[in-house]
Amino acid sequence: MKFIIATNNAKKLVELERILSPLGIDAVSPKDAGVNLGDVDENGSTFKENSFIKAEAACRKTGLPAIADDSGICVDFLGGGPGIYSARFAGEEASDTDRNDLILEKLDGVKERGAHYTCAITCVFPNGDSLQVEGKCFGEIALEPDGEHGFGYDPIFLYEGKSFGNYSDEEKDKVSHRGIALRMMEKELRKYLEENYADK
Ligand code: IMP
Repeated sequence: MKFIIATNNAKKLVELERILSPLGIDAVSPKDAGVNLGDVDENGSTFKENSFIKAEAACRKTGLPAIADDSGICVDFLGGGPGIYSARFAGEEASDTDRNDLILEKLDGVKERGAHYTCAITCVFPNGDSLQVEGKCFGEIALEPDGEHGFGYDPIFLYEGKSFGNYSDEEKDKVSHRGIALRMMEKELRKYLEENYADK
């Protein structure tokens, strides 16, 4: 059974393919499917809504079941922000370093440093059915960036006192928002496929 992965982010593609292949799912990227998903207007107000918007658009465009994720970092002192605006909140042209510096600047001298990552994953089927899960990973914002691993906000996110920038991919997968959400989606999908596609 073929699934379209509604992302052009190479790292997300690899993580999603890894989970889907043991379920007998042939995960295809938009490029492999020969489609350009374009820029979908992520105008939802939650991670779940935005992941649904991306998956639904890809399913409609290709006629294939589609899976999409939406993720970001939520900082307690910033009222849960940047949240769904994590990719854009320092401006369209900003780099990961710019975004990390901006968070550190906003938290300069602040004791309250709690934060969490959230990852919502939605799967939409051509018959209109959908599955949704959400994983969270709780930690703190560091005083300064540390570590070379991971991406995005990882150098300033402390999990159990150690920056995600110092976790290997395997270590991070075990505890991360995306790892948690993917394992939840694996269970949901297994159940759904058994009930709906068992002999197809
Ligand atoms: P999305 O690709 O629209 O879901 O945007 C996700 C935003 O949150 C980007 O700015 C990412 O860098 C950030 N983000 C999401 N997950 C992670 C993670 O696991 N580590 C670091 N940054 C993340």
